Amino acid sequence: MVELQNVSVTYSSGVDALNNVSLKINDGDFAFVVGSSGAGKSTMIKLLLKEIDATSGVVTVNGYNLNKLKKRKIPEFRRTLGFVFQDFRLIPSMTVYENIAFVLRVIDAPLKYIRKRVPYVISLVGLHAKTNSYPDELSGGEKQRVAIARALVNDPQLIIADEPTGNIDPELSYEIVELLKGINDQGTTILMVTHEHDLVRHFGGRIINITGGEIVFDEVISGTSEEALPEEELAQAMAQASGISTDTARIAIPASPVTSTEDALIDEVIAAITGADQDGGV
Ligand code: ADP
Repeated sequence: MVELQNVSVTYSSGVDALNNVSLKINDGDFAFVVGSSGAGKSTMIKLLLKEIDATSGVVTVNGYNLNKLKKRKIPEFRRTLGFVFQDFRLIPSMTVYENIAFVLRVIDAPLKYIRKRVPYVISLVGLHAKTNSYPDELSGGEKQRVAIARALVNDPQLIIADEPTGNIDPELSYEIVELLKGINDQGTTILMVTHEHDLVRHFGGRIINITGGEIVFDEVISGTSEEALPEEELAQAMAQASGISTDTARIAIPASPVTSTEDALIDEVIAAITGADQDGGV
């Protein structure tokens, strides 16, 4: 469950990145978050991961009031979340199995559990045959499946996926969303940030549009399995449904993905998944 109550974020530079945002995503929901570059999407994700704090308002995630969450409780909180990055962030020197297993090792899961759980999540994402492959032997879609398996391995209540289809072929994007939908059907809440209108249109469901730090659209639209509407038509449909301008409804291109060295990668993945700080302490 995610709840923002009158949340604002003002960076020290004076930029108001979120302005009085209220939002509730119930357990078991699937929601797309859309919005142009600079709209406030990353700020919202950082808030939900407690990487930053709200300047005002209340943020509650999976029953934790993040305003009041003590630093030492962050790892416990983070384990209720799974996170999927746009650029996969798989560790190149680790096989598919190891990329997923290391997350459980970091949190000291029993070996017996790791040996059962890792093959299970690999089979859930349909990659049993690739268990011992390295990331550079996988397609973009397969890499993102591994990243989704890694996000799932802790059995999180909520998965946040930040542009998960941003680095893969458009036709495979549908498979990734299908996979996330399948995981959602099993009860995991999913929040997916995307700029891809055709995906949103195809699958439908709850669409939250952030523009200029405010929620300008939050409605359930029905999906179509027909060929996706062109972006312009979707923007017009959204504008009509909510009374906002077509300009506001348009969704722009996301920032390009980040690259990092393997050590930095491992730190980032551990931090995102377990809440451990840069020194690796959990
Ligand atoms: P999005 O993810 O939708 O592209 P962001 O949340 O990154 O948007 O940014 C929202 C606004 O806050 C933008 O104006 C951006 O320039 C600003 N911003 C983001 N991060 C910082 C920061 N660390 N310090 C100051 N301003 C920031």
